[in-house]
Amino acid sequence: MPDVIQLLSDHIANQIAAGEVIQRPASAVKELLENAVDAGSTEIQLVIKDAGKELLQVIDNGCGMSPTDARMSFERHATSKIRDINDLFSIRTMGFRGEALASVAAVAQVELKTKKQDSDVGTRIAVEATEVKAQEPCATAQGTNIMVKNLFYNVPARRHFLKSNTTEFRHIVDEFTRVALAHPAIGFRLWNNNAEQFHLEGGNLKTRIVGLLGNSYEKNLVPVEEKTDILNISGFIGKPEAATRTRGMQFFFINNRFIRNPYLHHAVVQAYEGLIEKDAFPFYVLFLEVDPARVDVNVHPTKQEVKFEDDRLMYTYLNAAVKHALARYNIAPSLDFTLNPEIQQLSSVQLPSTHEHRTNTEKGYLFNTFTGKNQAHFIEKKDSLQQWKELYSIAQSPEVSQASQHIEHTQQQLHVQKETDSAGAGHNILLVQGSMLVTTVKSGMMVIHIRRAQERIWYERLLQEWNDGSTPSQQLLFPISYELSPQDAILLNEALPDLARIGFDIAPFGQNTFAVQGVPTELPAGEEKNVLDEVVEQLKHESPDAVGKRADTLLINMARRLSRSRYTLQQPESQQALIDELFACTQPEYTPDGKKVFTMIKKEQLDDMLG
Ligand code: ADP
Ligand code: MG
Repeated sequence: MPDVIQLLSDHIANQIAAGEVIQRPASAVKELLENAVDAGSTEIQLVIKDAGKELLQVIDNGCGMSPTDARMSFERHATSKIRDINDLFSIRTMGFRGEALASVAAVAQVELKTKKQDSDVGTRIAVEATEVKAQEPCATAQGTNIMVKNLFYNVPARRHFLKSNTTEFRHIVDEFTRVALAHPAIGFRLWNNNAEQFHLEGGNLKTRIVGLLGNSYEKNLVPVEEKTDILNISGFIGKPEAATRTRGMQFFFINNRFIRNPYLHHAVVQAYEGLIEKDAFPFYVLFLEVDPARVDVNVHPTKQEVKFEDDRLMYTYLNAAVKHALARYNIAPSLDFTLNPEIQQLSSVQLPSTHEHRTNTEKGYLFNTFTGKNQAHFIEKKDSLQQWKELYSIAQSPEVSQASQHIEHTQQQLHVQKETDSAGAGHNILLVQGSMLVTTVKSGMMVIHIRRAQERIWYERLLQEWNDGSTPSQQLLFPISYELSPQDAILLNEALPDLARIGFDIAPFGQNTFAVQGVPTELPAGEEKNVLDEVVEQLKHESPDAVGKRADTLLINMARRLSRSRYTLQQPESQQALIDELFACTQPEYTPDGKKVFTMIKKEQLDDMLG
């Protein structure tokens, strides 16, 4: 019997490797852009034709390569980035497998031109299906210019498998976006079929986000900046109103490498709970910086998935950082900032840190809140409260702007009874269509959505009572019997303690029946069963990880229910009272589920409207 084992040729080995590294034009784009970044470039251009099937080209002004390096770069396992195995654990450059160029060259026709700064001539190399077709000196600018033509021309199955040009180009833009976000200081341009699609000047992260995603993002960005001795978190998150129905504008970078991580995504989304609707996705571009020894980036061939030494700690820190940012910018009320005490037990929290680390980070919120042991983990409410008070006292200032005179005039015309200064406030308030209040403020006017304002007020009142453990309950003269299906009865039974805390006195009564003996004092008669139906509905759809948030959702639902069924604000006193109560709230601007409560119309805007 003859021996049967053969060594695979380089070409076949490279093609096999290519299958893993280069799945579609976008994967080649990613590798080439990352190489350009690693080369220290300040300007990078990406040129695409026919969704990368005909041509994808990257031109950079980085360090360039010597003739020998240029030839070497196409060898498998050729890399300037690792010398020994330990480098793998501390690597901070983008790519480090030394496989990208070899893989691309196995499945395409590649032409490379490159020149180092201190050389007079550059090098041109042409490679087709791993075979070097030409190597010669050439004239070229400093840096590297690499053209990949007819990708997968020699792997028809793979080429056939590519999706429509629209889809493939979208993938390319995704990769381009990620690299551009991770390197805002570098200028990037993207040409698609000779048309310039992006022209991004080097700048900061904010200008980069706006350049990539559009001007409308600017006003919706909330900065996140936290330092601890274990990780740093920075970047931007979107205000709740910037949340979208579709995925896409969510970016995590670990040590500047884009990753996907559903667990961390959840940590961010969870921080928005109550601010955005259940099926909406908040915008975020977040950079997590950790000691590279604490993450294993190389678990997935395309390197978008990572493993952390301590997932839960990451989760908690990230979640807290986002909540903190939202609270600091008056977007979320600062409730429930308690930290699971288990976190304190994690070894990473217990680890001794160096003096240097400590002094670097101990001014940070996360450090102060979480690193101290057995600390009460509450965030100060005062800041935001104070800010809202100021805003509103501006509204109360005696200065009468032209806009307010205008409104005064309208009020008189409409014969609306104008209550003067009952509280010495000097407000002009107008009830519009029974659903809005308009009041004057220094810079123009403020329009308040009455029902939403009530929702916010109720929510905070209930929350206060909940935190104090003092929710008043009103005993019913005749207990109401409430019957459910066996499944629903189990759910309700489980939630009885939570319900008791918001004022429901409910006792199990026979098989699947309950006796409702007391309800929250404010609940209008006749609403009892409706509210409980809603509660049961909520419990049915509760995801297991939302159990901790159940109380909050109960409060939100209750607040909504209470505000829906309530007064028409005919009396000026009650209009004023509503506004006062609203601005005594921690977070008057949004309902507990993230809808805007009021909006301002500036004098200039009014001037504009009137031409
Ligand atoms: P890796 O990036 O993992 O090292 P690659 O196959 O992507 O592997 O690249 C191989 C080597 O070629 C790199 O280590 C680098 O030295 C060199 N190289 C590739 N692209 C460029 C570039 N645009 N500018 C300068 N050097 C480059
Ligand atoms: Mg590389």
